[in-house]
This record gives sequence, C-alpha cells and structure tokens, in this order.
Amino acid sequence: MRIDVFTIFPDIIDSYTSASILGRAQAGGHLDVQSHDLRDGAEDKHRSVDDSPFGGGAGMVMKPAPIFSVVEQTQPPRPLLYLSPTGRRFDQAYAIELSALDGFSLLCGRYEGVDERVREHLVDGEVSVGDYVLAGGELGALVVIEAVARLIPGVLGNEESISDESFTDGLLEYPHYTRPAEFRGWDVPAALRSGDHGLVDRWRMAQSLDRTRKSRPDMIEARGGLSTAEKSLLDEFGL
Ligand code: SAM
Repeated sequence: MRIDVFTIFPDIIDSYTSASILGRAQAGGHLDVQSHDLRDGAEDKHRSVDDSPFGGGAGMVMKPAPIFSVVEQTQPPRPLLYLSPTGRRFDQAYAIELSALDGFSLLCGRYEGVDERVREHLVDGEVSVGDYVLAGGELGALVVIEAVARLIPGVLGNEESISDESFTDGLLEYPHYTRPAEFRGWDVPAALRSGDHGLVDRWRMAQSLDRTRKSRPDMIEARGGLSTAEKSLLDEFGL
C-alpha cells in the first residue's frame, strides 16, 4: 500500500514512519509512505505557504497555489483526504475501509487550515481524528497511517491479534495477563489458569461485555443492547 502525505513538516512523518511497526512494514515491502513538502510549491523566495484571511480575523490560512502545485506534480494515490476537525470521524471501520485500498493520500493543514478552494476542488474527502483541535494534521495523519497499516496482511506478526481486538466486533477487548500468576498479592483470574478453553472463551466474552457496557454504553446500544445469553454469561461470572 502506498500512502502519500502532504505537509510542511515532512520530517515528522518520516521519523515516525521509519520506526517500529511502520518501519518494518516499509522494509518488508508492505507499505510505502511518501511525504511531500508543501513548501516546494511556494512561489516566493521565503517559501511561504500561508497568508492572512479575507474578511479579517485572527490566524493565517494556507494558500491554495502551493498545495495544488505539489499535489498536481505528484499525482498521488487517490482518495486524497484532508485532515480536519470538520471531517468524517476516524474509527476502526474507517481504517478497515482504507486498508482495502492499494493506496490513498493525506493532506495536513496548519494555521487556521487550508483555503476553501482546496477542499472544494482538490481533495476527495476529509477525516477527523476526534472532537478536539490539534495544531496541525501531522499527528492525525500518523494515527490514520498506523491504524490502517497494521490491518494490512503481513504487517503484524500475529494476525489473530487483529480479529480479537477492540472495536472489531463492536466490543472492547477483554483484559490480558502474563506471568507471574501472582504479583504483589494480585492473582491472575482462575478461569485463565484453568486450562479449560471453553471457560477461557466465556470469561473473555463476559469481560468484553462488562468492560464495554461500563466504558462505552453507546457501543452496547448500537448492538441492540445485551441479549438474554449475554446477560446470563455476565451472571455466570458475577458481573
Ligand atoms: N480552524 C480549524 C477549525 O476550527 O476547524 C482548525 C485548524 S487546526 C488549528 C490546524 C490543522 O490541524 C487543521 O487544518 C487540520 O489539518 C489539523 N487538525 C486539527 N484538529 C484536527 C482533528 N481533530 N482531526 C484532524 N485534523 C486536525
């Protein structure tokens, strides 16, 4: 998968995507992240990419010309998505959709954001990483890249860890434990040490349900509430 990122801080993108899982994914040929400096499209010797807003007001706006110029020269994989608090909220379902593509591109804003003509005539959509305002799109782009890249077959060592984890089936994941079985007087739950795989599965499902209803009741509601079988599973473990 190829992901192109348009930004005035390509170093931020390059340093994060060259390390850890994303670095290995690129070395292994699963992923190719290309960053592009929007200042390369600037028309003046100061390489300026922003200007004051028509109509007045605080803050600067990213000029259209440098963005159009760098994107048109690059002809990046589409869709080209603009990182913006006004965009579609990024979630696991959105990550799964993007992971099915051969590639896509991300445009990072700074200042007050981009000139509206970029949104209307250059990008294909907008993506928000949450209901808060960051100083720039780079962290959001990295969130999107990492969430999508780890869904590409071969990127993670253990494929099972994807199918089991939070949000995949509309629930949050169950708790994990490793050795020692007792730490500072806190024991690993007996079900996990029982060797009974059926019991382990039921305990994990009950924990997922319990955790989700406590932390994210909206997710339980979206599944249509708890079924009778799910309620009795919670009862079985005193939850
Ligand atoms: N004036 C804009 C607004 O109120 O919607 C916020 C601009 S923000 C200071 C600068 C840039 O950060 C945006 O152009 C966008 O690229 C990025 N950004 C900020 N918050 C974001 C979010 N929640 N999701 C995605 N990108 C975000």
